[in-house]
Amino acid sequence: MSVIQEVIAYVQEKDTGQPEFHQAVKEVMTTLEPTVAKHPEFVKAKIYQRIVVPDRVIMFRVPWVNDKGEVQVNRGFRVQFSNAIGPYKGGLRLHPSVNLGIIKFLGFEQIFKNALTTLPMGGGKGGSDFDPKGKSDDEVMRFCQAFMSELFRHIGPDTDVPAGDIGVGGREIGYLQGFYKKIVNNNATILTGKGLEYGGSLIRPEATGYGAVYFAAEMLTTKGKEIKGKVAAISASGNVAQYTIEKLNQLGAKAITLSDSNGTVVDEAGVDDKKLAFVLDLKNVRRGRINEYADKYKVPYYPDKSVWDVIREKGLKVDLAFPSAHENEIDGSNAQALVKNGCYCVSEGANMPSTMDAIMVYQENNVLYGPAKAANAGGVATSGLEMSQNSMRLSWSREEVDEKLQGIMKSIHRACLDASAAYGKPGDYLMGANIAGFIKVANAMLAYGIV
Ligand code: NAP
Repeated sequence: MSVIQEVIAYVQEKDTGQPEFHQAVKEVMTTLEPTVAKHPEFVKAKIYQRIVVPDRVIMFRVPWVNDKGEVQVNRGFRVQFSNAIGPYKGGLRLHPSVNLGIIKFLGFEQIFKNALTTLPMGGGKGGSDFDPKGKSDDEVMRFCQAFMSELFRHIGPDTDVPAGDIGVGGREIGYLQGFYKKIVNNNATILTGKGLEYGGSLIRPEATGYGAVYFAAEMLTTKGKEIKGKVAAISASGNVAQYTIEKLNQLGAKAITLSDSNGTVVDEAGVDDKKLAFVLDLKNVRRGRINEYADKYKVPYYPDKSVWDVIREKGLKVDLAFPSAHENEIDGSNAQALVKNGCYCVSEGANMPSTMDAIMVYQENNVLYGPAKAANAGGVATSGLEMSQNSMRLSWSREEVDEKLQGIMKSIHRACLDASAAYGKPGDYLMGANIAGFIKVANAMLAYGIV
């Protein structure tokens, strides 16, 4: 058995009940196969075996009191996966589905993603099974304070710098940073995604969505195509989806879908800037459901269907797809339907939104496939830029940050292409992203010796 197969089997045996983590390890490790022959030094130092075990897993109780005065208990997690190339960096997710396996898959992916950004950031991830949906602002605040009352001892500007993810946006980051500042009496950079008034960076809220579109644009350029005039399907209506649509509009494309966990809206006229402003208010301020969009703009709404189900069932034609909701949202049959309906480019805003079957369908049909760790790295890259600005105690302009973000997305695209060519599969962005990220981290691990 090859070392790669051994590592996959080892994780499946030891890390039971963590299917998403198994999936992420299998997806990454399988594409690293060509590195084994070229790097006997990695094999000798057991880099492959070491990289799948987190440096540290922190799990804790988060007790808080709801508006009715009832005690609630949630589970808190922070997985500090690898700080080989910089402080642990990765978001916090608040969603009822959160468990150790999901946080480990996200933390593992984050190692390679952060390495690709060219910035010195290690990989980590955290969160809780707390569901912010339907909670009052006061309840969210009390939860965030309880969560930070344990997390604070494990993080710091040179140790671990969390950010947002599903269920953690500006409101939650504010509560978390506010409580940290109070209990530690230190206003250090312990989170990114902060408000502009207290150390945030311009373009950070936009960065993941903008970056996914910049990555798609780079992929299209290799085929002599551009974003302008294309029809795009976007899932979700959260942070990543919102700014993917904003950038698509700026570049002259048309976004025709939106969704949330209750259903999907199809707007064939396009979600223009005015309609997008309605979505931002609906989702970020009023915290309502996406069916309100269908009511307001008199467009079809499909309850309990994902965007990808609707494309399959209604034969909706799209050129580009930006999955922006959650892991495994596109399975093999949805991927087949995307191809059948004309889609030739998938740029992943969400983390691991395509199952392994779906990825096979993209590859068999020559779909330009931008895997999450490359396509959505603009968010963490801009978090890295926020950390730099905080360290220098200055703020860059919108144009400066956007220019740096575009430069980083171009360099990630180039790194993927170069690595895929160097390891024998030119144009395979999945292999390119995994290998380029891995080589950097593996070399750092070698330099440190056995630690
Ligand atoms: P968000 O603002 O909280 O929005 C999440 C969106 O996804 C919502 O529309 C939500 O609908 C939908 N969603 C989540 N779980 C779902 C489920 N199980 N079924 C159906 N819909 C679901 O989160 P976000 O920051 O945009 O994150 C979206 C994805 O991007 C995640 O995979 C995240 O890991 C990834 N990502 C985010 C960033 C970032 O900077 N924020 C960076 C890199 C990657 P409901 O409101 O109905 O739940």
